Amino acid sequence: MNFSDHLLSWYDGNGRKLPWRTTRDPYLIWVSEIILQQTRMEQGLVYFNRFTEAFPDVYALAKASEHQVLRVWQGFGYYSRARHLHRAARQIVEEHGGVFPETSREWIRLKGVGPYAAAAIASIAFDEAVPAIDGNVYRILARLYAIEQHMDTSAGKKLFYDLAMCLLPACRAGDFNQAMMDFGSLVCKPVRPDCPNCIFQVQCKAFRQSAVGQYPLRRRKKPARVRQFNYFCFYTDDLQDGVSFFIQQRKGNDIWKNLYEFPLLETKHNTPVEKIAAHPWWQALFKDDVVPLLEHDGITVRHQLTHQRICARFFRIRLYDALKEKLMQQYLYVNRETFDSLPKSRLIEGFLKTWLSMA
Ligand code: SF4
Repeated sequence: MNFSDHLLSWYDGNGRKLPWRTTRDPYLIWVSEIILQQTRMEQGLVYFNRFTEAFPDVYALAKASEHQVLRVWQGFGYYSRARHLHRAARQIVEEHGGVFPETSREWIRLKGVGPYAAAAIASIAFDEAVPAIDGNVYRILARLYAIEQHMDTSAGKKLFYDLAMCLLPACRAGDFNQAMMDFGSLVCKPVRPDCPNCIFQVQCKAFRQSAVGQYPLRRRKKPARVRQFNYFCFYTDDLQDGVSFFIQQRKGNDIWKNLYEFPLLETKHNTPVEKIAAHPWWQALFKDDVVPLLEHDGITVRHQLTHQRICARFFRIRLYDALKEKLMQQYLYVNRETFDSLPKSRLIEGFLKTWLSMA
């Protein structure tokens, strides 16, 4: 039996039963591929169900506002994926009359669809014979053939692509791609692969050389960017209206675009509070006003993203009426219920929950 037949027969008996695997609906397959990138299956499944329940087809997604889409996505992270899905849905409806592309070349032209997702969708939904290469595929092939080429170089990428293309069966390309994903997640795992029970044990070069842990080879990763965020949680707490906050919508081409957050000052280092009070941003807001900023040193929360590490300090500052009027000119003033209904990052949501549970 050749490699692909062997793998497909393993997949037929051991592949995971997932909702998007019982359909050829390109919409559901597309949404699943975008959600599952760099995401644990259990978490992806929750958001897949939630997303497709809120937006059951491409028309429903295209018709929704970005606000609604981000709200459904809230807590999942990777917000640009949600925005891209939304924009691509509008592209499909407005420019293609709601008809999905059929080839990976066309899929890749849609917002947020990379080479892996394009190949996966086209092969699963439309039987295109194209390999979908992700970390699982690099790992399995690198170990099976003890490949000495770094996987994250152009020469390495080409070598792995050509090899995967050779192994791809003439039919069932979609199943082959999904089988590679499952085999990489369930058997040939990054850590502690199940070599003793592996169907490829005999031909696996890395296993025969007792060198499984060495593959795949990759160049050294760039260290994550560390950022220092100082959030100022200006609030009022009226007996009648309860707690209300000053917030802003995040703009610019950065993380958490269009999500809501507290007024933010980003600094290079962990800045002492005296220096914050002297900072031009603070001065432009308050000049000589007396603001009880320095009562405490803020609550620090660390938040890890794929390529960035956020060190966030939250200063809770209760405002008196004169300052309230002033801030209203620059920020949105919302009550707790409204803030709850707005899309925000997991960092802000988590902090808010902790804070309000302490109150
Ligand atoms: S023998 Fe081990 S390393 Fe080789 S393919 Fe199987 S699980 Fe992966």
